[in-house]
Amino acid sequence: MRLLALLSAWTIVLATSPALAADAVKNPLLAPWTGPYGGVPAFDKVRVEDFKPALEAAMAEQLREVDRIARNRRPPTFDNTLLALERSGHTFERVNAYFGIWQSTMNVGPFQTVEQEMTPRLAAFNDKIYQNAALFKRVAAVYDSPDKKNLSPEQQRLAWKYYDDFVHAGAKLAPPEKARVAAINERLATLFTTFTQNLLADESDYVLYLKSDAELAGLPGSVRDAAAAAAEERGHKGEWAILNTRSAVEPFLTYSDRRDLREKVWRTFISRGDNNDAHDNKKIIPEILALRAERAKVLGYPTHAHYRLDDEMAKTPENAMRVMMQVWKPAVARVHEEVADMQAIADQEHAGIKIAPWDYRYYMEKVRKAKYDLDMNEVKPYLQLDKLREGMFWAAGQLYGFQFVEVHGLPTVTPDVRVFEVKGADGHRVGLWYFDPYARTGKQSGAWMNEYRAQERVAGDITPIVSNNTNFVKVKPGEPLLVSWNDAVTLFHEFGHALHGLNSNVTYPTLAGTNVARDFVEFPSQLNEHWLSTPEVLSRFAVHYQTGKPMPAELVAKIEKAKTFNQGFDTVEYLAGAIVDMKLHLAGAGPIDPDAFEKKTLAEIGMPAEIVMRHRTPQFAHIFADDGYSAGYYSYLWSAVLDEDAWNAFEEAGGPYDKAVAKRLHDDIMAVGNTVDPAQAYRNFRGRDPQVEALLRARGFAPAKTN
Ligand SMILES: [Zn+2]
Repeated sequence: MRLLALLSAWTIVLATSPALAADAVKNPLLAPWTGPYGGVPAFDKVRVEDFKPALEAAMAEQLREVDRIARNRRPPTFDNTLLALERSGHTFERVNAYFGIWQSTMNVGPFQTVEQEMTPRLAAFNDKIYQNAALFKRVAAVYDSPDKKNLSPEQQRLAWKYYDDFVHAGAKLAPPEKARVAAINERLATLFTTFTQNLLADESDYVLYLKSDAELAGLPGSVRDAAAAAAEERGHKGEWAILNTRSAVEPFLTYSDRRDLREKVWRTFISRGDNNDAHDNKKIIPEILALRAERAKVLGYPTHAHYRLDDEMAKTPENAMRVMMQVWKPAVARVHEEVADMQAIADQEHAGIKIAPWDYRYYMEKVRKAKYDLDMNEVKPYLQLDKLREGMFWAAGQLYGFQFVEVHGLPTVTPDVRVFEVKGADGHRVGLWYFDPYARTGKQSGAWMNEYRAQERVAGDITPIVSNNTNFVKVKPGEPLLVSWNDAVTLFHEFGHALHGLNSNVTYPTLAGTNVARDFVEFPSQLNEHWLSTPEVLSRFAVHYQTGKPMPAELVAKIEKAKTFNQGFDTVEYLAGAIVDMKLHLAGAGPIDPDAFEKKTLAEIGMPAEIVMRHRTPQFAHIFADDGYSAGYYSYLWSAVLDEDAWNAFEEAGGPYDKAVAKRLHDDIMAVGNTVDPAQAYRNFRGRDPQVEALLRARGFAPAKTN
């Protein structure tokens, strides 16, 4: 009933303005979503030429709404300020949802021009809202009011969230300081673009052309074919091109028998952005770091790392560093063991070498075969995309009581997209799940979850619409689509994000579903990966595409046994970058020489000589292509600590499908979105703070010694 009370207390009704209603007739992107399931996106009505006018009209509408809230003559209250903000901007959200879907999955032709023009304008639009001084005054008044204690916990959390977002954007500053922050942001945006373009240039300009069969030694047919096609595309028909990108370099380093060429390819790859030429990123990085340090000082923080972590679960750089170092030491110890295994094989083969960084992936494969007798190509016939999808549904049914029913006839971006209605155990509508499985031109590579509409109860009982997107190569009708084990894990991962959105049960959309801290958001997704390898899922859904027989127990056992294989390499390669990222952003405003800093930091922490950072500083796009993961690359490890510790809660109880633990996971984590502080949410679920030991065990590391 609290909801009804809130709605009836609502005074400023932000109904669609008459002008906009007229626009919506001409421009379908502006129209409310209609049809079943509380309305669905009208993908069949999207025309690229409508994006610009729709975004312009929607931004203008939201700015008018915000302005009206800011100018309200009545004293600020939760309802006339925060609730009003929650109710504003729905037109913009809908148009922006279409825009995001086109950016990530339909990015071809004239759309790219629209994107180039509109992206900076969307950024400026955001600044305009956060720099509205009158609006911030009202937000702060609600947050600081003694009446705040009379609000519900969720309302108090919302008040904090708005206040915190405004303050983080510099709303508290005096006008000259605000102007300085805006100028810094503008300069940073330019530097980020230059950084990205330099990296792209080095990835496309440096190509190694192989000319003879001898140079292809060891490469499997699929790698040779891809290299031949890449060469032909570049006018080198009859040769083989090894491109300077991760997807080309890693297979080459894994399979090439030619150690001289492995070294050459490796050196070129790790030198991206670091070639002392026109595309060198070392010239840009010091300025980015100095500007970030200055901005943090202006905003009242000692360093950029402190600024960025202030509203994350980790809270302080020290907390993040402590967890990283707890994992770092045992991971390095494991690397020394992995290298010893590889060196033993090299010695047996009389290779006469000492394992170097360009040997790691190559000898790693030899160890996998020798130690685990596991050929990943043996696993693939049991992994059919359709069956795996049913397996994900089944596990979600066991854990959350969900049922999935395919829906036909709803508009989709391509006919290949499938839509499922998600129902609760009692049959009520939970939401919709869109699945866009196949690669196509204009679709971003990789896999991800996208939320088309957040769950909320402010504008009625709004159910979420979420999507999963992958890049499988489409097969002919009637043929099974087989995926790799890694792809199957990714499928469950992205579905975990979708379940986080679908399980949301909150009032305010700002706090719904996956709108949580950056170092918490990968927790539900990484956790969901675990259910793939449960015997319950494998025996029912990992069935051979020809015989229909489930994966043999001995193959399941081999996969299980090889789980900790190469975890030393994976962890150290990643963590070295996360540590350097954090230290760069703790270093303050003094001039920083990126290469010297990286070298010194790695020496201090005892980086194994056989491994290089996954992203060296001059090519570290996560932290220099935008602010996103700056001082935040640690987030993946932070979430992994949570997911392994949470998985242990199931194992300590009745197993992966323990009803009581599943209910706590739902009630305390999956349903609450950002209405509860993440550290508290985890404590509510687990009865204690997360412990790192489960992760160390899962990766096969000896636990760190405590003294
Ligand atoms: Zn994820």
